[in-house]
Order: sequence, then structure tokens, then C-alpha cells
Amino acid sequence: MAAELAALRTIVDDLDHGVVVLDEARRVRFVNRAFRRFWRVPDDWADCQQTFVKLMYHGRGNAYSVSADKLGEYVAKQLELIRNGDDRPLSIPLANGKVVQFRCKTLPNGNRLLTYGNITELADQAEALERLACVDGLTGLNNRRHFLVLAESEWSRFRRYGRPLALLMIDIDHFKSVNDTYGHDVGDQAIKAVAETLQKHKRGSDIAGRLGGEEFALVLPEAPLDRALIAGERLRQLVAARTVDTKRLPMSLTVSIGVSACRSDMSGLDQLLKEADVALYEAKRLGRNRVCLFGPQKAE
Ligand code: GH3
Ligand code: MG
Ligand code: MG
Repeated sequence: MAAELAALRTIVDDLDHGVVVLDEARRVRFVNRAFRRFWRVPDDWADCQQTFVKLMYHGRGNAYSVSADKLGEYVAKQLELIRNGDDRPLSIPLANGKVVQFRCKTLPNGNRLLTYGNITELADQAEALERLACVDGLTGLNNRRHFLVLAESEWSRFRRYGRPLALLMIDIDHFKSVNDTYGHDVGDQAIKAVAETLQKHKRGSDIAGRLGGEEFALVLPEAPLDRALIAGERLRQLVAARTVDTKRLPMSLTVSIGVSACRSDMSGLDQLLKEADVALYEAKRLGRNRVCLFGPQKAE
């Protein structure tokens, strides 16, 4: 039995995950090598059967690389999970960019088996996936779904504080003929060119998104209708002034833009989007390459 235990101990010592065993009084009974290495716990500390809290605090500001208040928060959370025998994982982000996943398992004799896994790579992948889910692959702008999430939160701010908020709906003119004449690749370059113009010239707090095909939207926080009109007009001119390379002559493009702004009688973000769409339709109807406001006044 002693030989088996020694063998088991060697295996646990060799694991990549940190492993700690606590007895029912929450004293440290065992600390494996990975834990000692990762958290830089000296052997005399690891072996003197102190309390779990002391073990966790031994390297504050050093091994943990997190601020004292953050460390306190994570130790408290771990203690709560340990007390409740709760085996839900707890991710502990460290100031050095690494992420450690803590987990507590209750053993049959009431002892607790704590594991600490370095899940930095996994966390990075999750972040990359999250990014993929929010960003449009062709242009790098927010995709429709994420744009609407961000726009919704600006709408809530408008509702709460009554700050001005405007929206531009932007659509490339005669885009079908771009695809038909130059091919899909040039079409894609045209979409990228408009996205780039949008990204480069918008304000830092403005939110740009690709809503679909060759249609974009820009949310302008703190912008009343007249300023949104100026921003739209500037954007229209910037797009018209640039060209896209093709196998033939450089190609120019134009966009039509519909502008709407929040009013207190609006039912929700949907209405703001709808009104910008109506204004965009009007800009198309009046001949394209122009900016129209929703409502009776129209820019010619
Ligand atoms: P209008 O001035 O009225 O907007 O005319 P339009 O030709 O732009 O009309 P419409 O919006 O109906 O056409 C959009 C076209 O965009 C249809 C579709 O083939 C094309 N399209 C949609 N998504 C993409 C894309 O990702 N890449 C390319 N190259 N074309 C796309
Ligand atoms: Mg179009
Ligand atoms: Mg369109």
C-alpha cells in the first residue's frame, strides 16, 4: 500500500496541473511539484501543513502577479467553493496574461482535492472565437449581430440619460453592376474600401457595422441630427473620392446614406433603424450618391 501511495504521489507530482489536498480543517496535506513551481512556493512552506489561506497568500505581489485586492477576491471565491464542495471551475486571470483554472473536488473522506490548470491557451482561443463571432470576416467591422448588441446598449443610454444619438444607414450604389462588370473579387474589394473609409474617418466612440452584403451602418453617440447629416455627407464625399483597383481602369463608387436620430417618442432601436432605412430608400429614389434625413426635411 505504501509503495502504491508513493507511486501515486510520483504520478501526481509529474502532472502539469497544480494539485493541492486539504483536510477537513482546511490544512494543507499535500502540494504537488507543478503547484510549487507555478506559484513559486518554497518546499518548507508547502510541507509545513499550514492553512490553505496562508499558502495562497505566501507570494502576494510576487508569484500571483495580481493586486492585493484581486488576490483577496479570488482566495475568498476559492474558499467559498471549497466550503460548499462546489466543483464548478473558477478562472483566475493573472496580471501576466496567463489564466489559471481552479477546481475543487470533494474526496470520499471529506478532504478536498484542488486542481490548478494553466488554461491560458484555451482562454486565448475562447477570446479568438468570441472575436470571430463578433467581427465580419471580409471587412473587420462589427458583424450584424454584434453591431445590434452595441447599438442596443447605446439606445439604452439614450433612454436613460436622453443624450443625442443618431444612425447612418449606408448602401453602395448599383453594386450589382460592379459584380456583373468586374467580378465578385472586385466587388469584395469595393466592400472593403467602403469599410476602410468608414473605419478610418469615424470618431472613436462611433460604432460601425456591416449589416449584410454591401450595406453598412454607423451609430453616432452624442450626435444630433444636424451633426449626423454633416458626418454622412463627409463620408459620402470620401467614398466618392476614392477608387478601387481593377484589371481595367480604376473604378470609382458611390454610396447613398439615410440618417435618423433618436426621439423620445420612439418605441425602440428598431424604429431608429427603420427610419434610417426609409431615409436611405429616399436617397436611392432621388438618384443615389446622396444623404437624406428621415422626415420632411431632405438634403438635396
Ligand atoms: P442600389 O443602388 O439600389 O443599392 O443597387 P444595388 O445593385 O446595390 O442593389 P442591391 O442592394 O439589390 O444589390 C446588392 C448586391 O450585392 C447583390 C449581391 O449579389 C451582392 N453581394 C452581397 N453580398 C456580397 C459580397 O459579400 N460580396 C460581393 N462581391 N457581392 C455581394
Ligand atoms: Mg446597393
Ligand atoms: Mg443593398
